[in-house]
Amino acid sequence: MWLGGYLRARLYDPVQSSLGDEQVVIFGWLKRVTFLGSKLDQCPNCGVVGDHYLVRNTYWGHVFWVPLVLLGFRHGMACGACGAWTGISILEMRKALRDRLLPLARVRPATGQMQQAIFDETYRRPSEAELFDSVGVNPKRGLFDLYFKLWPPLALALVVAIVVLAAS
Ligand SMILES: [Zn+2]
Repeated sequence: MWLGGYLRARLYDPVQSSLGDEQVVIFGWLKRVTFLGSKLDQCPNCGVVGDHYLVRNTYWGHVFWVPLVLLGFRHGMACGACGAWTGISILEMRKALRDRLLPLARVRPATGQMQQAIFDETYRRPSEAELFDSVGVNPKRGLFDLYFKLWPPLALALVVAIVVLAAS
């Protein structure tokens, strides 16, 4: 989905001290998905035991597709098989990526069978936490991960600069 539009604006030209020719400004919002990591889990929706992806969705107001305003964000985990979404708070996600552990309270019918299969091979029965809690962190989270973290102080600095300039 793409929401947005364009407006015709006459931009002020400080050299001529007048309004310039009419220009088209394209604006709207866009969504960016950042892949933060993955973990093994059993999906409560489709029942598959497999990779689940830890992601951050960010929503930006853009001008000419340059994301200028952070409108919102959400963190969560998506089942690799069916895409079922589990919301995770920013604090939980930060902790999960730091500790490389994400314990989730969920019913996993496959646990007993998996524990038995590993016991049959190794004579040691792993705990449910050993099977499902560990997180693989994506080492290349991309430019938007950095921009997401830098945006709040950058925006604040810009606002302060504008206020100071306007007051002087
Ligand atoms: Zn699923």
